[in-house]
Amino acid sequence: MLEVSIIKCLSDNFSYLIRDTKTNLVGVVDPSEFNPVDLEISKKYKKLDFILNTHHHSDHVGGNLDLKKKYNSKIVCSSYEKNKIPGSEISMSDKEEFIFGETTFKIMHVPGHTAGHIIFYTEKDNLVFTGDTLFSMGCGRVFEGTLEQMYNSLGKIKKLSKNTLIYCGHEYTKNNAKFCLKNDSQNTKLKKRFDTVKELLKKNLPTLPITLAEELETNIFLRCDNKKIKINLKMEKNSEFEVFSKLRKLKDEF
Ligand code: ZN
Ligand code: FE
Repeated sequence: MLEVSIIKCLSDNFSYLIRDTKTNLVGVVDPSEFNPVDLEISKKYKKLDFILNTHHHSDHVGGNLDLKKKYNSKIVCSSYEKNKIPGSEISMSDKEEFIFGETTFKIMHVPGHTAGHIIFYTEKDNLVFTGDTLFSMGCGRVFEGTLEQMYNSLGKIKKLSKNTLIYCGHEYTKNNAKFCLKNDSQNTKLKKRFDTVKELLKKNLPTLPITLAEELETNIFLRCDNKKIKINLKMEKNSEFEVFSKLRKLKDEF
């Protein structure tokens, strides 16, 4: 089994400390910075075997070198971005498996936010670390890839089993929900979720993880074929991809 602890970093980043309970291997996903991650390690496991990076942005790799130095950890990252990732050692390509004790992570290449973005999916534990590709009720900005790549990348995630737990890179949930509500205003599940999210944040709790099933019902970027959304956007005759492109542009200006 995989144990996951959420570590808040920087202003709105999430890093995740993980432990394979059978073998006691410890890893961290996207260490934004050294201090909060180091503090959590010192409280819990006192070691760090692996550092897993979803993509090369500094708010996801900022703690790489100092953590590696202190704990002698091995850095696992995208083969497409290994030259941009500080301290990279083990590079992984699409469909490869990263064996982490009894936990097998399937690597999925999901270009769009960056050209080489990868996500770590484990079927056995039913969870995925999505970095800046899929957020709760949102998706990452398209910086290096094309809109089409991002659309296809989200399409890959949509096909995972519905009870998969999503652990993403940022606490953007509330603002994302506001955007969803603006363009999907008749969605009652979305309204409910917005209330839940506000309650969690009031208690200073993270809004994650969340199941893929809930995302499919509330995340507008996964619902571009929805009739009501199309009507709201006056895009009844447009394709799902065209609706996605429009929404991504609207979100950039939101
Ligand atoms: Zn990023
Ligand atoms: Fe980020």
